[in-house]
Amino acid sequence: MKIKKHKFPGVYVFIDEDGSEKIATKNLVPGQKVYGERIVKWEGEEYRIWNPRRSKLAAAIMNGLKNFPIKPGVSVLYLGIASGTTASHVSDIVGWEGKIFGIEFSPRVLRELVPIVEERRNIIPILGDATKPEEYRALVTKVDVIFEDVAQPTQAKILIDNAKAYLKSRGYGMIAVKSRSIDVTKEPEEVFKMVEEELGEYFEIVERISLEPYEKDHALFVVRKP
Ligand code: SAM
Repeated sequence: MKIKKHKFPGVYVFIDEDGSEKIATKNLVPGQKVYGERIVKWEGEEYRIWNPRRSKLAAAIMNGLKNFPIKPGVSVLYLGIASGTTASHVSDIVGWEGKIFGIEFSPRVLRELVPIVEERRNIIPILGDATKPEEYRALVTKVDVIFEDVAQPTQAKILIDNAKAYLKSRGYGMIAVKSRSIDVTKEPEEVFKMVEEELGEYFEIVERISLEPYEKDHALFVVRKP
């Protein structure tokens, strides 16, 4: 086995015993496991294997994402942080110089995040509704990146409203879109085109990538604030 750097800073490529390649992040809190992920040690450092079947961001990177604005030192507003599966890898990447404001509207789910953030202090968990960005105005600063994974019919509007309130000018948005959450009756491609059009009214569209085969009928968009 071997670990080498990925082209995206803060992301690593893990070459397993059987020669297969996986992605990983360097554990910011050595010894901490977040969701039962595999941990490997390499040259005195601990890495967490990033599972593309558990994380849409990992699926996008495995599928050859070209633009990845999440890097060491950046600030991220994460909409739909849930219990922190993906956010824990984002936390590894942004490191102690970076910061994640994590919005989640389910108290039960957010409670699961609490023991993780006790040690992972670059994540600030916030109980709030992403459709009402003014609710968390006192807690969130302007950020470099907004990542959204809420699986809601009004996903694109949620990203735009939050970008207006919290995204720095020229900052990036990333949004995982599940076509069935928006319209079960339409073909996924038709739904993705609608979402692209709506996002395009406010953002520059940087990239769209399919998350198949890891997530059925899902795509991830990278957009940029003008
Ligand atoms: N991004 C997470 C990960 O990869 O670890 C998984 C997120 S899960 C697909 C969607 C989450 O969004 C759920 O935990 C749900 O409670 C939350 N959510 C849905 N609508 C929301 C809203 N309006 N405001 C805040 N959170 C919301």
